[in-house]
Amino acid sequence: MPIAIFDMDGVLYRGADVMPGAREVLERLRRASWDVFFATNNSTATRDEYLRRLERLHLGGDRDHIITSAYATAHYLERREPRPSDVFVVGANGLRDEIRAVGIAVRRPEDLPGNDPPPDAAADGVNPSAMRRYLVSLDLPPPADTVVVGLDLHLTYAKIAEAQRTVLAGAHFVCSNRDRAYPVEGRLLPGAGTTVAAIEVATGARAICIGKPEPFLFEEAIRRAGRPKGEPVVVVGDSTDYDMVAAHRVGATGVLITTGLTEGRAVEHATGDAVPDRVVHSLAELFGLPEFAGT
Ligand SMILES: [Mg+2]
Repeated sequence: MPIAIFDMDGVLYRGADVMPGAREVLERLRRASWDVFFATNNSTATRDEYLRRLERLHLGGDRDHIITSAYATAHYLERREPRPSDVFVVGANGLRDEIRAVGIAVRRPEDLPGNDPPPDAAADGVNPSAMRRYLVSLDLPPPADTVVVGLDLHLTYAKIAEAQRTVLAGAHFVCSNRDRAYPVEGRLLPGAGTTVAAIEVATGARAICIGKPEPFLFEEAIRRAGRPKGEPVVVVGDSTDYDMVAAHRVGATGVLITTGLTEGRAVEHATGDAVPDRVVHSLAELFGLPEFAGT
């Protein structure tokens, strides 16, 4: 069975808006016996939450066809020797939940040192030395053995400080992805890579990355499809640096779709593995490609 792996944000939907033709394309591929997978670098939600989102958007699919960077990160930690036993997450609860689901303890966000500044320290711009005094007065717990960073829409200075302290104490340093941007309805927000970079600068350490452009998400999809020999694997994604690179690392055909994150000159500037094999400007154009001929 041929395999199609779709990136989600910017390809099938943007925020809550489903892309034109998304339902029809997925339906047509499934009818033509393609094994359709969803792979996202977004680490904020669990696979079950993604499943509900796909259902809400009427895009079909099931849990076994959804691969997220949060899920892949949890399985990376699970296989690691020595196995982590105390993880500090800078990220969302979806990432914490996926790590807990493999039996690894994750610190609760409410236990973060520096979570509860007094009012004079909390007010932005009013009294920075009160915030500094508060931070240095904290009773700090022993540092976690692992720091995991993903997209965090509630990032604070205290979280970066705790990640810095933990990594400098020797913790294993992992990130779900390094995405520069997070495409949502009508605009771009900063991606997880923004936070990863901040902690890397603060520590001089380099995080191990699990999401695209690393190959792990797509490898997992191909593994689940049963590694069919000689069957085509096609990746449809909106970024040269993440989706196309990861596609080529697993030997797949990379189809770039320009509906999402793709920057204006991305295709001209792409080199090596980042160069797409095909470029389309809408999902409907997929069926004009030789890879989908006869579908
Ligand atoms: Mg995308």
